Formats: sequence, structure tokens, C-alpha cells
Amino acid sequence: MTSLAVREDPVPAVPPRADAGAALATVLDELETLSRFDAGSAADRAEAALATARELGRADLEQRARLVCADLLRRRGAVSDAGRTAQEVHRWATDTGHRHLLARSSFVLTAVFQELGDLAGALEHAVVSVDLLDDDDLPALRVDHLVRIADVLGLSRDPAAPERYAAVLRLAEDLGDVDRQLRILNNRAYTDTLSGRFESALEHSDRLQALAAEHGVPLDVGRLDTVARALMGLGRLDEAEAALLPGLRALDASHDGDAGADFLLTLAEVQRLRGEVDAADRTLAECLRRCAEHGLASIRVRARAEQAELHAAAGDHRAAFEEHKRYVAELVEQQSAQREARARALQAMYETTEARRQSRRWRELSLRDPLTGLYNRRHVDEELPRLLAAPATADELVVVALLDLDHFKRVNDTCSHAVGDEVLRTVAGLLQDTALPGATSFAARLGGEEFVLVLAGTDADRAAAHLEDVRRAVAAHPWAPLTGELPVTISVGAASTAEVTDRTPAQLLGLADARLYRAKRAGRDRVVTAG
Ligand code: GH3
Ligand code: MG
Ligand code: MG
Repeated sequence: MTSLAVREDPVPAVPPRADAGAALATVLDELETLSRFDAGSAADRAEAALATARELGRADLEQRARLVCADLLRRRGAVSDAGRTAQEVHRWATDTGHRHLLARSSFVLTAVFQELGDLAGALEHAVVSVDLLDDDDLPALRVDHLVRIADVLGLSRDPAAPERYAAVLRLAEDLGDVDRQLRILNNRAYTDTLSGRFESALEHSDRLQALAAEHGVPLDVGRLDTVARALMGLGRLDEAEAALLPGLRALDASHDGDAGADFLLTLAEVQRLRGEVDAADRTLAECLRRCAEHGLASIRVRARAEQAELHAAAGDHRAAFEEHKRYVAELVEQQSAQREARARALQAMYETTEARRQSRRWRELSLRDPLTGLYNRRHVDEELPRLLAAPATADELVVVALLDLDHFKRVNDTCSHAVGDEVLRTVAGLLQDTALPGATSFAARLGGEEFVLVLAGTDADRAAAHLEDVRRAVAAHPWAPLTGELPVTISVGAASTAEVTDRTPAQLLGLADARLYRAKRAGRDRVVTAG
């Protein structure tokens, strides 16, 4: 939507080091609030910010930088790639409850859905992107997010749009932010023309021109196009053409082929309506040349309709009819191609979400013991070092207990392997049921008939009492229906971080294992936590 396009602003640089986290956050603030990125240098800054965030190991800043990169991709036309990344960032923000990133990813997703033509989806994200902003966020961001809601409503021809634009315009005025005021006035006027409110469109395009003149900001072709459409809607064709003329001069300098072609199409229409058929012909030829050069399929289709009108205006009804037929054929083709592209993009975004959900499920499964459903050794290998690395006060210990079934071979031999399995499942259930309240504890099956209980954030006495409870719960369980005469008991050896020199899994597990061995030697069905 070139007529809703915005101005380019200078781009900040990424400072090299020191207070690197805070400095990087500032750079990201600036990148997030740029009215429009200068594609080349902003992309470089965003990539640099991404690399710095990774170096610093700051996942939150990394996600913010990813999102800035995604938004740049979107502006360069890679809408579905941008959508995929924005979805991923959105999910990350949801999982971690990162408010700012939820608001920002919703904002980028609003633009993505808007460009895919899904205005309902866009509106949903736009509302979230505003709701989640708070006083910590920069006021310019609030303006941007509010403008986006107004744009989506405006493109939907919703009667609430003007009110929204009016409110956010006051906000931008309070901030003294001229760039944003210009953008709001342009978008307001443009969406007014879509809804046929040409008087209002003209009023706002007049304000747009006055404000731009006051601050010496030249209007780009997209904005001149807005002004001309407002005048055209009121039948003021001479003024419309006059409004467009400065754009013709600026056109050669403009790198935005899209905006240029759109502008030329409006100019051709104005010229035709004024009866300047030859001028309109030349303008349209230039428009078509730009469409071909920049591969602008959708403007080209609209240009065909204008071409048919021009033939008719020149009295060549046969050519007008032929051109009109081509227009209809291409329009139908374009609409189905757009539908397909949109379906593909939405599908790609959906698949990423789905794949992530799946891989998380697989990962979760890979950390589980299939027989008992407890965590497995892989989980212990991942989780225990993490718990031990976490800062803790002196009375917040990590206790590791190894639990081994006593004479388990006898259960297998006397009953059956199947009964043995059932005993293992039942013991696992008892371990789960006896979770230590207030502590981050988890149980895992290390293999065979050996289990581990990890108790974090507890003290030595509570841990010992808890392990004794677990031992007693196993011994007291009514095993007879399963194993008949055979009792089922466990021996336990435990060690805590208060007793080792290094907070390493190896030290703790080694000490616990030595104590488990002593529990066995001392007659089994007991807990050894010291010595
Ligand atoms: P101790 O009191 O000294 O620990 O004696 P134990 O018989 O429990 O010890 P041992 O290590 O000699 O035997 C363990 C047995 O556990 C051997 C093996 O058949 C059985 N076992 C290991 N994994 C499984 C399993 O998944 N299911 C069943 N049913 N048995 C298993
Ligand atoms: Mg064993
Ligand atoms: Mg055993």
C-alpha cells in the first residue's frame, strides 16, 4: 500500500562494547521507533544488533533484534518469511511472558496480516499490540501501534477509523513528532478517499500539505497521490493535476518503483478525465514501463483498465473492448494468484507454529522414561547442572538421593518380569506422590531399578525426613496382590551441596552412591544421609 508509506529516517549505529546490554537495548529502541528504515543500513545495524545480542547471551535482546530484521524483510517484500519469524518471536514472548516483545511481535504481525489482505487477523494483532504497551514503552511506539489500528480500520472502511486517527494525531502533536503527524494525516486522508469521504480527505490532505510546507518536508509521490485522489473525488481535476506535477519532477529521483507507478496511474486518470488524451497516453506508457521494470503485476492490471478507458475516450471502442477483456482476464488470474500466495504464506506461518509444538512434544518425550513416565537420565544430565549453577543461599541446599530397589532380582525371578515392571511403575508413582512441598524436586529413573530424587531449595533435616517418608511409603505399600509374600523395599543414599567442595553432579552422585552402598551393606530398607 504505497499511499500508506512512510518516510525514511536516519539509522543509529551499534556501539562496540561495555554496558553492552543497556547500549544494545537503546539501539533496539531506536530501530523499533524508526518511521521507516533505510533498507540497506538499517538491515546492517539490525544484523549487527542480532550478533551482539547473541554474543551477550541475551535471549530477550536477540528476539527483539530478530523482530527488527523480520520487519525489514517484510518491507522488502518477503512477507511470509517475516511472518514466520514474527510468529516465532511471538511464541517465545508468550512462553516467557515478555510483554514488550508480545506487543512488538503483534505489531509486526499486524502489518504482515494487513499485507496478506487478512484485515480481521490484522485487527486482532493490532489490538493486542496496543493493549500490551505500558508506561515503560517509548511514546513513539504507542503512536505507531495506535496508527496501525486506525490503518486497519481505515482499510476495512470501518466508520471508527476517523476517530482513531484523530486521537493518535493529538498524541503525535503532543510529542511534537512531525514525521508521525504527516504519516497520520496522509493515512487518514487516503482511507477517507477509500470510504468516499472526499471532503474530509481534502481537509486532511490540506493539513498534510500545510504541515509539510511549514517544516520544509517535501511530499513524496505517495503523499501527492493522496492529495490528488482527494481532489479528484470532489471533481476538482485541474487542482488534482497541479497537485501531482511536483511528483513528476521527483519521480526520477525516486527509487520506489511501486509508488512511482501508482502515482503515474493516478496522473493518467486525472489527465484522461480532463480530456488530455495524448498526455494521459504518454503517462500511462511510462507507468507500464515501470510496471514491467519492477514486476508490478497488480498495478499493471489496474493500468489495463485505465488503458481501456483511454481507448474509449479516444473513440476507439473496439480497442477499448479488447483491452477491457484482457483486464478482466488478468484481474481474475491475479486474484487467484493472490489467494494462493496468501494461503501459502498463512500455511507457512501455521506450519512453523505447529512444527515447534511438535518438536517440543518430542523433546519432552525424549526426556521421559517410557516404562514409568518419570524423567530419564537425559533430563537429570540437563537439569542437575542447571540447578547446581543457580545462585543459592547457605540454607538452600540441593540434595541428590539415589534409590535402589532391594533384592529386585527376586521379584523378577519369583513372580515374573511383567510383575517386576509393574513394581517399578508403582514405586515411580509413590516417588511422584511424595513430592516435597515448597522445593523444586523431581524424580527420575536412571535405569534398571535405580531412581534419583533431586530436592532443591531445602535444608538437610527436611530432606532427610522426606527421604525417610519415601522409604516408609514404599515399604508400607500393600504389595501382596502384586508380589505375594515378597516385600518391596528401597535403600537410599543421599548427599547435599553442603557436603561437597564443588557443586558438580559428579561429586554429589559419587557421594550418594557410596552411601547407597553402605545402606545395602547395613541391611537394606534404610536411608543413609551422612558419614
Ligand atoms: P540389591 O538389593 O543389591 O540391589 O539387589 P537387586 O537384586 O535389586 O540388584 P541387582 O542389581 O543384582 O538386580 C537388579 C535387577 O533388576 C536385575 C534386572 O533383571 C532387573 N531389572 C533391571 N531393569 C529392569 C526392568 O526394566 N524391568 C524388570 N522387571 N526388571 C529389571
Ligand atoms: Mg541396582
Ligand atoms: Mg537393587
